[in-house]
Amino acid sequence: MNQRIEIIKGDITKMEVDAVVNAANKKLAGGGGVDGAIHRAGGPAIMEESKKFDGCETGEAVVTTAGNMPSEKVIHTVGPVWNGGDKNEADRLADCYRNSLKRASEHGLRTVAFPNISTGIYGFPKEEAADIAIRTVQDCLEDHEEIEHVYFVCFDEENKQIYENRLSK
Ligand code: ADP
Repeated sequence: MNQRIEIIKGDITKMEVDAVVNAANKKLAGGGGVDGAIHRAGGPAIMEESKKFDGCETGEAVVTTAGNMPSEKVIHTVGPVWNGGDKNEADRLADCYRNSLKRASEHGLRTVAFPNISTGIYGFPKEEAADIAIRTVQDCLEDHEEIEHVYFVCFDEENKQIYENRLSK
């Protein structure tokens, strides 16, 4: 197991890291799930700064303040909506993890916490999403020595078990 990767069960808004990743929507308009939790915890400064972007494409990532959260920045990435699996959902999900870590590196953010992107309202199958997340992050960490630690923050027990099974292999 990669020493720079860790699984946590809990609320991502409480993480004391340089950056928490948000599973945002294309309009960066806020919403339910982890997106709503991040905006509630961080306060209006996050939305204020999000307005300077013209939304965000699926698989892309943009950075704002984390407002009142203990983290420094929020990296907003837009996961794919699951649509049967033959609409490049897997590639777009990998792009989310890759582009988020690219933004982290550009902004000097060394510790990053990811939620289980697309596995809530967007309906991506959890096992496949975990495989993509772990594989992509492991690959990226090889290219980005400057990123010290990545947390997969699982909100539900099912995702935590899936991640632990896969990372112990
Ligand atoms: P998406 O639209 O990308 O599916 P969701 O927010 O609906 O985004 O779900 C993504 C994941 O975030 C789900 O696994 C959900 O359980 C999880 N989640 C919801 N709230 C939180 C939170 N406060 N901290 C961490 N993860 C959360």
